[in-house]
Amino acid sequence: MDSATGSSVEGSAENCSGAAAGPVRGPAAVPPASLSPSRAADFMRCPLLYRFRVIDRLPEKPSAAATRGTVVHAVLERLFDAPAEERTAPRAVSLVPGEWERLLAAKPELAGLFLREDGSRDDEALARWLADAERLVERWFSLEDPTRLEPAERELSVQTVLEPVAEEDGAGRPELLLRGIVDRLDVAPSGELRIVDYKTGKAPSPQYRGEALFQMMFYALVVWRLRGRVPRRLQLVYLGSGDVLTYDPVEAELHAVERKLRALWDAIAEATRTGDWRPRPTKLCGWCDHRAVCPEFGGTPPPYPLPLPAQRDGAAQGRMDAV
Ligand code: SF4
Repeated sequence: MDSATGSSVEGSAENCSGAAAGPVRGPAAVPPASLSPSRAADFMRCPLLYRFRVIDRLPEKPSAAATRGTVVHAVLERLFDAPAEERTAPRAVSLVPGEWERLLAAKPELAGLFLREDGSRDDEALARWLADAERLVERWFSLEDPTRLEPAERELSVQTVLEPVAEEDGAGRPELLLRGIVDRLDVAPSGELRIVDYKTGKAPSPQYRGEALFQMMFYALVVWRLRGRVPRRLQLVYLGSGDVLTYDPVEAELHAVERKLRALWDAIAEATRTGDWRPRPTKLCGWCDHRAVCPEFGGTPPPYPLPLPAQRDGAAQGRMDAV
């Protein structure tokens, strides 16, 4: 599941709600404890964005697109509860309103997505949004045939620990907990594994496929470690454009992904220690909820909520003085 669809990862922004204008504080700050594909992508895109989401846990506005993604994912997952011959497009489409109601019951604040300026409910906007979700669900049937699929796992929560590594120069690398949610895992009679991820957006142009592929390689690494077998195929299903992208990884590539994730974690640990989280503006800033507190847009980040080296040294000196 991707970040745009509200995947459940380090429990940061995706669990928050409400407007993000101004330095509104989220729950108590804690240092990062694990890495998911979404948050790894955040750090690579903009370290300051990672800080706001994972450390400050600043609230973010719910978005209609991400919420639609959550509903569509739920429908595609739930459809497999039915016997194979009943997994039809009309049945899947009929599940959309119910999954929306279920999500709304769990997160009543989502009702705010469909309000007019005067606070009244915008039933037409909701109907258009539901129709869009239904179209995405229907398109899936032109890409895959669920009557011929029996997923081994759906919405599979996965995690693994990369063990600490001692470097030749005596330096060490700490352990790293990797975690995420795999939309679907198929297992062939031969035992071959296929990891499938649904995207409700459009397939990226070739020069921007790296991020999506990185997410899949992340999952491939975790599944390889959990199942002892390199996944045969990684499959991205883009419902927005009706494309299916596949990639067949090899073991050497997964070792390279592991090295990259360890280097990323080192960089995150260093930024956590020093409080040096640099903004990295791109055209994606237009979708960032935190522009009001971003220096690139004239804002000031909230005070860093974790102890900085000088504070840690001072605290340690204080403890020694007290002995
Ligand atoms: S507005 Fe852009 S530069 Fe600033 S935190 Fe967001 S993504 Fe980073």
